[in-house]
Amino acid sequence: MAEALDPVDVAIVGGGIIGVSTAYWLAKAGVRTALFEKGTLACEQSSRNWGWVRTLSRDMPEVPLALLANRRWREIQEQVDVGYRQNGLLYLQENERDASDHARWFESAKIYGAEAEFLTKRDAQRLLPQSARAWTGAMHSASCGVAEPTQATAGIAALARQAGATIVENCAVRGIESSAGRVSAVVTETGRVRAQNVLVAAGAWSRLFCGNFGVEFPQLKVRGSVLRTAPFDAGMSVSINAKDFTCRKRADGGYTVSQFSASLGELVPDSFRLMNKFLRPWIANRSIVRVRLNQRFLEEWKIPRRFPSERESPFERCRMLDPLPYAKGIDQAWTRLRESFPVFNGARIAQSWGGYIDVTPDAMPVIGPLHDVPGLYLASGFSGHGFGIGPSVGECVAALIRGDKPPVDLEPFRLARYA
Ligand SMILES: Cc1cc2nc3c(=O)[nH]c(=O)nc-3n(C[C@H](O)[C@H](O)[C@H](O)COP(=O)(O)OP(=O)(O)OC[C@H]3O[C@@H](n4cnc5c(N)ncnc54)[C@H](O)[C@@H]3O)c2cc1C
Repeated sequence: MAEALDPVDVAIVGGGIIGVSTAYWLAKAGVRTALFEKGTLACEQSSRNWGWVRTLSRDMPEVPLALLANRRWREIQEQVDVGYRQNGLLYLQENERDASDHARWFESAKIYGAEAEFLTKRDAQRLLPQSARAWTGAMHSASCGVAEPTQATAGIAALARQAGATIVENCAVRGIESSAGRVSAVVTETGRVRAQNVLVAAGAWSRLFCGNFGVEFPQLKVRGSVLRTAPFDAGMSVSINAKDFTCRKRADGGYTVSQFSASLGELVPDSFRLMNKFLRPWIANRSIVRVRLNQRFLEEWKIPRRFPSERESPFERCRMLDPLPYAKGIDQAWTRLRESFPVFNGARIAQSWGGYIDVTPDAMPVIGPLHDVPGLYLASGFSGHGFGIGPSVGECVAALIRGDKPPVDLEPFRLARYA
């Protein structure tokens, strides 16, 4: 097979927020980097998300990543417009239990430097005069923010290119090659590229990619659904998380609206293969993720689990996962938002979309080396919250690959925790 590009130090599989952020940090450090994206940059999760850059309610190991990400988003926004604003985030409360859950989270998170303030019922009413619903209080973080998903990935990719990274779109990586016991190349659909290190940042495809060379990564997909309104002024710029809707102001003047329970867990062959690891989280999250059996089972059943690099791979056969939105889930969110904030009755829905979220059994990503194959790294499984921490994850992964100490402890994210 012909060489497609000059040799690089690091080849990255996947052009979502994680891949491009890592490419940026590597190229800035002078590391020869090439990133390959089977479709277009951010065509899957990284363009379809809510755009939240949040610290609130994260699992503790992710809190330092979120705090570092706030700094990095600010610095990136100074160089290129990624739509980053620190608008604040409100977790609204409806009873004592919500208040004590939030207080318990903050007790642990403040040790890492997380900031939040607790609003009384009256404070919450004062902050949200448009609300027709009686909140009992809220947890508020002024340092949480938003960025515009597609613009952010494109902006960081532009910085990576400026720093010297090569970014190739519409070019799937079919597999890897190794020699002398370590990674030596990626095989793309247009040829082989020699690389001493490979990062798999393939989002929902990482399990299939790793499985092809025998690395077991327990990952499933959940279908999320979202809508956006046409530009509209509801007089609110703070992002809102209520139990039955979420809402954030967009840079184009509209609002992005969804709810956590607008998610579908579709039964596929991997659901059964991974049942022992996912059954508990499914049961614990049954009020959020509704399980369904539909045509997706057959679609995934037809995808081979092992495939040679010489022929067209499953990654070329599906350039972009583009599922339909789950209409009932977003209709419900839209109804509950308008009941809670009647001002939204004057808004118009401009678009709705679906997006597959890659999830792991403990809803935390895997970030680190794959010890079975020296030179191979994985950063995937962000379980619905990888956009906000993308820039800091990229910085940590770049440090790891260069042999430096990452600025955040990555030990809790190792793959071996599932062994
Ligand atoms: C509806 C929804 C709402 C969300 N809301 C938020 C939020 O508000 N805040 C937040 O922090 N996170 C949120 N997330 C999660 C967030 O979007 C993801 O965690 C994050 O975008 C993951 O980035 P990634 O780079 O790992 O994956 P992706 O963005 O999925 O990128 C992976 C890329 O790899 C490419 N690829 C795969 N295989 C190959 C191959 N073999 N060769 C070449 N390319 C390949 C794919 O085409 C894809 O573009 C949400 C996600 C969804 C779907």
